[in-house]
Amino acid sequence: MNFDDAVTFHGHACPGLAIGYRVATLALKELGVRSRDEELLAIVENNSCAVDAIQFMCGCTFGKGNLIFKDFGKQVYTFIRRPHPDALRIAVKWEPPSDDPETEAMWKRYAEGDRSKQVTAMVQDRKARRMKSVLEADDSELFAVKRIRLEIPEPARIYKSLACAACGETVMEPRTREVGGQVVCIPCSEK
Ligand SMILES: [Zn+2]
Ligand SMILES: [Zn+2]
Repeated sequence: MNFDDAVTFHGHACPGLAIGYRVATLALKELGVRSRDEELLAIVENNSCAVDAIQFMCGCTFGKGNLIFKDFGKQVYTFIRRPHPDALRIAVKWEPPSDDPETEAMWKRYAEGDRSKQVTAMVQDRKARRMKSVLEADDSELFAVKRIRLEIPEPARIYKSLACAACGETVMEPRTREVGGQVVCIPCSEK
């Protein structure tokens, strides 16, 4: 698996994906094999492009339940290999190289909605440079890495299904709500 494979999975090449690729590569090196089942668990603190590289490279996926999303808006990724409580915490500290005044002006025009050929080309070029810089940097320039101990989240569980009293659709038990003595799904409970 190389960066191009991750690009195919993600749909485009971008600096965020490059960061995720570097995070995943480091995690796999430090913790060992790719997660075939649920033994490798990733806790991600954002839902950016980077997470796609982690899902693809590490086999930690939303559907398998070994990808946990905490909506903290932070570039922090924590990996645990069950059953060991030792976790690897990777915080991204990389700062993109600062732009020259010309690029900065172009970027401002882009942000204001200018999609002219000249501006778009400059923005693409800036993206490519940032991506290259992420892919070529040393781990120590990109990340602050810590070994920590964590409570291990339980493996994905299988829950009983119930029929919502309002819409009749099936819903797993821990996500049901009681409204007026009836068991309903969340969307119905909010109506
Ligand atoms: Zn992307
Ligand atoms: Zn319902």
